[in-house]
Amino acid sequence: MQSSMAGSEDDNHHLIRSDDRQHPANLIPELCRKFWSLGWVTGTGGGTSIRDDDLVYLAPSGVQKELMKSEDIYVLELSKQVDPKKRVYLRSPPSLKPSQCTPLFIAAFTKRGAGCCIHTHSQWAVLVTLLLENQPANKTLFEINNIEQIKGFGKGYQKQGALGYHDTLRIPVIENTPFEEDLTESLEAAMDMYPDTYAVLVRRHGVYVWGETVHKAKTQAESLDYLFQLAVEMRKLGLPWLSDIA
Ligand SMILES: [Zn+2]
Repeated sequence: MQSSMAGSEDDNHHLIRSDDRQHPANLIPELCRKFWSLGWVTGTGGGTSIRDDDLVYLAPSGVQKELMKSEDIYVLELSKQVDPKKRVYLRSPPSLKPSQCTPLFIAAFTKRGAGCCIHTHSQWAVLVTLLLENQPANKTLFEINNIEQIKGFGKGYQKQGALGYHDTLRIPVIENTPFEEDLTESLEAAMDMYPDTYAVLVRRHGVYVWGETVHKAKTQAESLDYLFQLAVEMRKLGLPWLSDIA
């Protein structure tokens, strides 16, 4: 590592420097590269954050997600965040900006004890919100049942086990705002209204998905994207998302 890249002691560079592939500062760039290849974080949109106990690792704003490096990662202490308008970072890479998704990731960590939160701009997620927007009722809830992939979701916060094949998966939808950080209040309200959800759709924007671990957040994000794509295709074929098979 060149000293110019390593920065000074003040940068807290040691927080993001590890040979362990599973270290959050190594894992976030690797995950973002995978998500970029899926079209989830195109054009610097979307992001990922991992919490390790009280330390939160965040992808920065405006960085091409497939080119991100460990050096680009922000770090903060969750317990030290008193005022959302004056966020305190342990590590702030020079010449980068913190992600506007930060308060939304923090909501998943503080309100749901999540270990990882993934935000995608997947076209399937956006299309599902558009389909809901154009239906006469129930514009703010995506529901689907009797699809095998639903088993990829946990039953809910502090509940054991996964959803079953016949269970109905429900994902609330919140309205988009011009500035991403302004979504925080409605995202938190959706979490309160649907305490068992692991995801919130944002109309015409994308989805936030979280899980207790990186593994769970990633598999839930993948399962969800699969279901969103399926749902769009089902709607094109005139097939309902809910069926009464039991
Ligand atoms: Zn976004």
